[in-house]
Amino acid sequence: MDTVEDLKFLEESTAKKYNPKFGDREYLVIQTYPLGKTVRVIYRSYSYQDAENKCSLENMAHDYSTFTTRIFHDGKLWIPGNISGIPYKISEQQFWDIHPDYKSTDIDGEIEICNCSYLYFQGRNNILTCLKDDDGRNITVCPNCGEILIEDEEDDDFTPSACRGCTNYHGDFYGDNQLICAIYPYGWSDDNCPDFLSE
Ligand SMILES: [Zn+2]
Repeated sequence: MDTVEDLKFLEESTAKKYNPKFGDREYLVIQTYPLGKTVRVIYRSYSYQDAENKCSLENMAHDYSTFTTRIFHDGKLWIPGNISGIPYKISEQQFWDIHPDYKSTDIDGEIEICNCSYLYFQGRNNILTCLKDDDGRNITVCPNCGEILIEDEEDDDFTPSACRGCTNYHGDFYGDNQLICAIYPYGWSDDNCPDFLSE
């Protein structure tokens, strides 16, 4: 589900506020878990040591969030070299720039976040790239980290087609067993259930 905050982020003006311009070789302490639709920067500094100190303090202070230090260089986030702090390797976390077509709220689908921070578009039957520089490609794996992308299981994946929109439908799992409804605990065999009751 999109929260109000997520939708606000899709507006250009607000996106700028969340994504201010950083200086080249500025160190950013960013949140790597949980991820939002834009990288959350919690601290900025031009000193690598300063940023690293702040980062470890934040990691100690939070049980359910993790943070890491990145360096902004050439418009992208990089992993800083261990001792030197100079840009060493491109970071998986980036400030992804969504194509304007996906900034409208009446698109049929949702922007999803890969575990690596990459944003992609989950349509009704397919998964597409939705970035400004790479828009509209059908994908099955994340172009950023290679993880296999699966369709959102929170949707009606487990709802038999005969039961969609039926008031009698229950559908909860008890252990491995799904209770379809009180009348037909194991479901009806085709699409024309005699007890279909429209919502
Ligand atoms: Zn990924």
